[in-house]
Amino acid sequence: MSKIQVTDVILRDAHQSLIATRMRTEDMLPICDKLDQVGFWSLECWGGATFDACVRFLKEDPWERLRALKKALPNTRLQMLLRGQNLLGYRHYADDVVEAFVAKAAENGIDVFRCFDALNDLRNLETAIRAVKNAGKHAQGTICYTTSPVHTVETFVEQARALHRMGADSIAIKDMAGLLTPYATYDLVKAIKEAVVLPVFIHTHATAGLAAQCQLKAIEAGAEHIDTAISAFAWGTSHPATESQVAALKGTEWDTELDLELLNEISDYFREVRKKYHQFESEFTREDVSVQINQVPGGMMSNLANQLKEQNALSRIREVFAEIPRVRKDLGYPPLVTPTSQIVGTQAVLNVLTGERYKSITNEVKRYLQGGYGHPPAEINEALRTQAIGHEAVIEGRPADLLSPEMARLRKDIGELATSDEDVLTYAMFQDVGRQFLQERADGTLSPEPLLPIESAGRQTDEGVATEFKIDVHGETYQVAITGVGGQDAGKRHVYLTLDGMPEEVLFEPLNAYVEAGASGRRQASAPGHVTTSMPGNIVEVLVAEGDQVKAGQPVMITEAMKMETEVQAPVGGRVTAVYVAKGDRVTPGEVLIEISD
Ligand code: MN
Repeated sequence: MSKIQVTDVILRDAHQSLIATRMRTEDMLPICDKLDQVGFWSLECWGGATFDACVRFLKEDPWERLRALKKALPNTRLQMLLRGQNLLGYRHYADDVVEAFVAKAAENGIDVFRCFDALNDLRNLETAIRAVKNAGKHAQGTICYTTSPVHTVETFVEQARALHRMGADSIAIKDMAGLLTPYATYDLVKAIKEAVVLPVFIHTHATAGLAAQCQLKAIEAGAEHIDTAISAFAWGTSHPATESQVAALKGTEWDTELDLELLNEISDYFREVRKKYHQFESEFTREDVSVQINQVPGGMMSNLANQLKEQNALSRIREVFAEIPRVRKDLGYPPLVTPTSQIVGTQAVLNVLTGERYKSITNEVKRYLQGGYGHPPAEINEALRTQAIGHEAVIEGRPADLLSPEMARLRKDIGELATSDEDVLTYAMFQDVGRQFLQERADGTLSPEPLLPIESAGRQTDEGVATEFKIDVHGETYQVAITGVGGQDAGKRHVYLTLDGMPEEVLFEPLNAYVEAGASGRRQASAPGHVTTSMPGNIVEVLVAEGDQVKAGQPVMITEAMKMETEVQAPVGGRVTAVYVAKGDRVTPGEVLIEISD
């Protein structure tokens, strides 16, 4: 049988790639009846970002969503993306948490677990794959595709063989950035099919505009499965459109036998749904071949752009794109996928914004250099390792072997706020956000972030409402949209706008004192003893109190930006005379957060 099987990603990756993972369950359920009739091999519907967005923004219980989907889609396999030992989070969990999570996900409705590790270190998949097999579900072993001097067809084939030996039921080639090219795909799939007898799935983002061609070549080379998205949420940083691929294969030996008319009806539905989320549409989700140059995945690009915008430094985005491959090389060429994309991206931003490479190193980069995420694919920069962690021993074994069981402690920590093991796992995945969700649920105050009305004139981005207008200058008409307002510089305020679609950054004199004062009311750093940060973010922990004596270089607080933690060190030695921040506070660069005087 050479029929091609389709996994539709409309309920997970499609909206994650295009509207910041904001689609609500209420917009999924009404169309499930039709989705269930199509005959997809599976529907991808769950993963780290969907779980996170549910708890953080939509105030939905992700487990309840899963149960509702299972009920509404009785004839279709439900599939999830699992970050191996990281599960849906950003750190390695102890084996008992991995086992509990997989068991509960299976019990609540997941049939297919696509398990990956960001470093392709298969030791980080052992527990997850074993747990999936124990639950009697489909364990899909994943190859995170990337390009580098050490990644070759042979290394990926070796990985496919190893996944087979570990008991994987199928192999997924996960090209999260859209780096595959058609002929590279052909060679890779051909070699894998010759080496292992397992079905091969092609997951490739259309970021560079090549994904449909890649899938066709993959099919010619023997792949049996393709990941596609209903066309209303296809292309760009998402996936090839389901309808297009179905049409492309029609009448051939690979015919998917899916009903185009039914798919069309489903797409009409999602086209309307998409309008509801217009505020999350971004200008960084269209096709962009530059991913082939700098390897920055689409999702990461929009994150970086938002981060730099907040920082008044959008103009430096090209420098950051140029810095990313250097950091990646220093770290031994990890594929860029959660969490390594954040680890590399945030460090690159720091390197650019502090004006000195590795002047400030995030805790995650330190942990990475200690071997805390597993074996990097290539040699890392030893000078950087010594600078970051001195001569501390490097973990050579499987990182999770160093972790003691955690479920009992997590259960105790969250206490009565958790009414089920699922709740404990929600807390385990996203501690502060998870706790807040469970607290709000207990208080009956859960309320999703507001959506802007569809007919609203303003378009909202992640940063706020964009006001659009036309201006006439000397008889020429220009289309202008204000996309954000940032901090101040010499009394002038940074304003971000697009002028005929091109991003611009302009300095304006504020018209009123309120704007000038800034939101936090904190002063701008001006003395050597003023402790400040280089990136906007949140305070994770303040390590000193008023009156403490500190040495220059001693960590005084930990901040979190772009989901990565950074230690902020005392710029000078002396006595802490004032602490202006506490855990959880939002801070912007340049503000005085702690004062030290000698
Ligand atoms: Mn993807």
